[in-house]
Amino acid sequence: MGFSLPTLPFAQSALEPFISAETLQFHYGKHHQTYVNNLNKLIEGTPFADKTLEEIIQAAEGPLFNNAAQVWNHTFYWQGLKPAAAAPQGLLLTMIQRDFGTLDAMKDALANAATTQFGSGWAWLVLNQGKLAVTKTGNADLPMKHAQTALWTIDVWEHAYYVDYRNDRPKYVQQVLNNLVNWDFVAENLTKSS
Ligand code: MN
Repeated sequence: MGFSLPTLPFAQSALEPFISAETLQFHYGKHHQTYVNNLNKLIEGTPFADKTLEEIIQAAEGPLFNNAAQVWNHTFYWQGLKPAAAAPQGLLLTMIQRDFGTLDAMKDALANAATTQFGSGWAWLVLNQGKLAVTKTGNADLPMKHAQTALWTIDVWEHAYYVDYRNDRPKYVQQVLNNLVNWDFVAENLTKSS
């Protein structure tokens, strides 16, 4: 059976003009699909074939970890994006103000992590010991390997932005933070984990 590419939670053109349909055609249709295909090849006929994605991520190393984690990371990234999303409110807003001062200060911390991650990787909003925090990880690494709960992420591999922004990672990061964060998804992740 194996894993399958999850359906995108929006149309491929829904994030324009900030992320183009062409980017999603490749990023979702090719890159994410390839991680799924590689994962399935690597687990076939092994004890991992019956495990959940999270169990594989926690137990595996090397290519199996990389492909499993990239499947998880991309699925999580898509869920965290939404056009014209509502602003944070309630418990999430209260915690943002407690742990960062303001929403803008938290966005600045995320932008800084996303732009200073050297090479491929991810920037994250996480819950760490009851507090909101911003982290960054290289390649396929992810918060669950560090006993943190992921609340939101931005992909800073070049394939995430090169079609639309060429080498301008800071502009891609700013446009996503200002226009595409699905705060309802962030709030749901916070509620589930507290
Ligand atoms: Mn990616």
